[in-house]
Amino acid sequence: FKLMGAEFKYTICPFCGAGCGIYLIVKNGAVVGVERVRDHPVSAGVLCPKGVYSWKLIRHPERLTQPLLRRERGFRPISWKQAIKIIAEKIREVRKDDPNRAYLLSSAKCTNEENYLMQKLARTVIGTNNIDHCARLCHSPTVVALLRSLGSAAMTNSINDVVNAKTLFIIGYNPAESHPGLFRHIMAARIKHSSPSASRILAAKFPSIKHETRFKIIVADPRKTRTAIHADLHLQHRPGTDSYLINAMTKIIIDHDLIDKEFVENRTIGYEELVKSLKDFNIEYASRVTNVPLKLIEEAAITYATNKPSTIYYGMGITQHRNGTALVQALVNLALITGNIGKPGAGVCPVRGQANVQGACDMGALSDFYPGYRAVNPENAKIMEKLWGTKVPEEKGMYSSEMWLEAQLGKIDFLYIMGENPLLSEPGYYRILRALRRIDFIVVQDIFLTETAREADLVLPASLWAEKTGTMTNTERRVQLIDKIVDPPGEARSDIDILLMIYKELGITPLYNGPKEVFEEIRRVVPAYHGITYERLISNRYGIQWPCPDEKHPGTPILHVEKFPTPDGRARIIPVKPEITVKTTKDYPYILINGRLISHYNTGTMTRRILELLLKESSSILIISPEDAEKLNLLDRDVVELETPYGKERIKVRISPEVPPGVLFVPNHFVDPPVNSVTGDIIDQESGIPEYKGIPARINVL
Ligand code: SF4
Repeated sequence: FKLMGAEFKYTICPFCGAGCGIYLIVKNGAVVGVERVRDHPVSAGVLCPKGVYSWKLIRHPERLTQPLLRRERGFRPISWKQAIKIIAEKIREVRKDDPNRAYLLSSAKCTNEENYLMQKLARTVIGTNNIDHCARLCHSPTVVALLRSLGSAAMTNSINDVVNAKTLFIIGYNPAESHPGLFRHIMAARIKHSSPSASRILAAKFPSIKHETRFKIIVADPRKTRTAIHADLHLQHRPGTDSYLINAMTKIIIDHDLIDKEFVENRTIGYEELVKSLKDFNIEYASRVTNVPLKLIEEAAITYATNKPSTIYYGMGITQHRNGTALVQALVNLALITGNIGKPGAGVCPVRGQANVQGACDMGALSDFYPGYRAVNPENAKIMEKLWGTKVPEEKGMYSSEMWLEAQLGKIDFLYIMGENPLLSEPGYYRILRALRRIDFIVVQDIFLTETAREADLVLPASLWAEKTGTMTNTERRVQLIDKIVDPPGEARSDIDILLMIYKELGITPLYNGPKEVFEEIRRVVPAYHGITYERLISNRYGIQWPCPDEKHPGTPILHVEKFPTPDGRARIIPVKPEITVKTTKDYPYILINGRLISHYNTGTMTRRILELLLKESSSILIISPEDAEKLNLLDRDVVELETPYGKERIKVRISPEVPPGVLFVPNHFVDPPVNSVTGDIIDQESGIPEYKGIPARINVL
């Protein structure tokens, strides 16, 4: 719409997986600000600082505007024609020598169409399943565990369904800082359910909403996060003991006979094995290892099982462990035995980090899944060959976490990175730096000269979300169409244009005439997207939630209502072995964890370039408890050396009671120093996710 000479163009925020709707304000062809969208189902008129300042990236002076080729004395600009020819030549070479010495990193910042083309380039052109993206680092355990157990790798309920829950169990997740758009709904639910005066006002305004007073928030997190301070029950467990905590809750529910017998009998398989596996599980011991009083664990378990419907929200505090897949499974078990799934207010909600991480997974930008979550194997390769009309590799590709180990050994010749910054996001900064320097040829396609781009041989200037058309899928499976609003700066091109230029140079057919044609193919290939069209997305501006099997289907806000998409329609309960994943020693008496701050985002490539966000926080800090600070005789802003078995760095201290004694926290957005210079290379064998959380550490006072 137009107002006072400015145009308000609808799009979504480019940052987190909440996918808040925003208007970009355009005046005289330039974007000059952001306005909220009051009736958007996620943002509902409220944006966090990242969304508010997102427009500042559009004409940022540091944007890349020309292709750059590394020469002896640094980068030199070259033409697009030269750049595309070089890439095509490198692809031809690696395809001939050994396709598995190539690796493509796709991006959750890019559209579905771009991710689809990137994985198709790997599979059908180069001939390898060596394709991955940042989901390997955040929710790959979710994909493995939820697919295996529920038949679908996604958040089961919608964000605004939180108001239907009576209990929220939030574990390893801090929505107040990670997804403020979602947290707002939790706070709205709290007001609706708990405050008599607010509920009177709401009842007058919305007479159809029933007032409830028994709304409970249970938060399990080693830190007293901004979310935890709103909890009715805060289980401040020791990092690395999540499996003991969740299994203890499961055992208590079984022992108190609080299971939903009808649900378990009719809709699940495996309950007896679960009971057997927990027969000798000692809840007193679990209380000791988790450092959470047994009474509190019992209260949490009983509340979750009885004050229904209950929804579980979890994030990377669960997934980024060596047993990440098992932990997701343990949470699913909890939901299944209590029948807390497939209903309004009852679900299992893995909250995705980046704007399109759900979509990038749906599109198959994963080394172990073709599009539509078809596991990579000979049988599914045949299905893909039929759909694509060309040969498809049937061996699983390397996880990106495995690829870095191969690269260190000099076994990767060609690496093509679209919109990711692995030098900062992967664990082991110096290890990744060494690996990058052993790769023969690296292409980085991005909007800024990121830390990784500085190590590349060829840098391609790409475009931001507001400079291209395509679809993005938020964490609640909402597919939204974004339109091109402004042109990219200089010679920068959209990622889809760049990929199509490469396709053309290599003579690959079909030649797509832009994102809409690519989406038409996606609809054919990814069953959950069958009924979604660009036309429908234009008339449903706030998107359609998959699965959407046909063009008349309205989309699916809640999954698994009648049955699970497994071969027999039942969910799998799979026992989980308890494990303590981090132990302190005399040499390393602390446990280091990391996470997000509200004003920054992932490796900070975008937010560290926005002054207003930098003013809120601008460099790495080590958060330490007042008790530990006193023991070490430290004052706020002292500089110490943080040491782990993987490395050491100097870092400024901040004293805060948000961490308990023995636990240290560093945010993961900054370069000075990067938190990943002290993380290691242990991975979860089932999903390939690296263990970022729970690193033994020591502090050397300088
Ligand atoms: Fe953007 Fe996420 Fe903030 Fe919404 S909550 S404005 S999507 S960063």
